[in-house]
Amino acid sequence: MELESILLPGVDAKRPLIIAGPCSAETEEQVMETARKLHARGIKIFRAGIWKPRTKPGGFEGIGAEGLPWLQRVQSELGMYTAVEVATAKHVRDCLAHNVDMLWIGARTSANPFAVQEIADALEGLDIPVLIKNPVNPDLDLWIGAVQRIYNAGIRRIGAIHRGFSSFDKKIYRNLPQWHIPIELHRQLPNLPIICDPSHIGGRRELIGPLCQQAMDLNFDGLIVESHCNPDKAWSDASQQVTPEVLDFILNTLVIRDTNQTTESLSALRRQIDELDNSLLELLARRMRISQEIGQYKKEHNMPILQSQRYDEILQNRISQAVSMDMDGEFMKTVLVAIHEESVRHQQEIMKR
Ligand code: PEP
Ligand code: MN
Repeated sequence: MELESILLPGVDAKRPLIIAGPCSAETEEQVMETARKLHARGIKIFRAGIWKPRTKPGGFEGIGAEGLPWLQRVQSELGMYTAVEVATAKHVRDCLAHNVDMLWIGARTSANPFAVQEIADALEGLDIPVLIKNPVNPDLDLWIGAVQRIYNAGIRRIGAIHRGFSSFDKKIYRNLPQWHIPIELHRQLPNLPIICDPSHIGGRRELIGPLCQQAMDLNFDGLIVESHCNPDKAWSDASQQVTPEVLDFILNTLVIRDTNQTTESLSALRRQIDELDNSLLELLARRMRISQEIGQYKKEHNMPILQSQRYDEILQNRISQAVSMDMDGEFMKTVLVAIHEESVRHQQEIMKR
């Protein structure tokens, strides 16, 4: 892909590129007050959601095109650039009619090739930077496919936004970072800048700072952070928005380490290995915990620990699954036997209690 820089004139080329602003444009006053405070702290690109994709109906679904002239005030009175999420061809047209400087495609939209294609068609022949969020599901090809659709429409100023992936059991994060996915995106498309969205990954204010630092340590090019003049009163995503003052503090405390270009691709691969090993360990720990629960159940119901038929089934199924996934059957057997032995040991501990 022959991409051009997403940097806008006058925006510092130094990493990280910063985009900040409220989840949603709510009122003209809220937009202007937030923008003024961000501008005073050196932020150049102002984000604001105009149309909001909400999981359930009944919430605030965005102020709509009525909010676009407010963003024009941000441009003319403060000299800031504006960035808005688009999900339909009409959104694109409305944004262009109001001179929005940068567009982004939201996570629910990038998961839908029909919607991305509709946006791509509306962008045909135009020259505007477009940022593409990862789809809500952890599907790298779907993400790359969305980038390609926009590229094929002739857009050359393209960036990606990593905002995490939704999962059924949410624990620390609102959307799991699964860092190995954007890292692999970078390996496949090294010229595509990647911006991290700590707000939608974290879902909580206290995670914004650590996530920004993690993104910088992983060589992300920029950050898009939700910031609101009065976060507690925000009409959407209140728990993850920070004041412009807090954002300024977070950005000032970031440590930006220089990347060693010569080993960049090797370290990208190593980071993926680290990330995957981390996931493997978490999965193993979860599996052990469940196996302990099974041990408890067996104890309470006076059942023996070893249920050979079940064990044989597990071995057979997993080994043929592994072979179909291009792994060696013997290798998988060794792994499974070791895991099983450890599970049995855990269950024996429980029986002894
Ligand atoms: C947003 O940026 O406010 C938003 C709706 O994000 P996402 O598409 O990542 O959920
Ligand atoms: Mn939001």
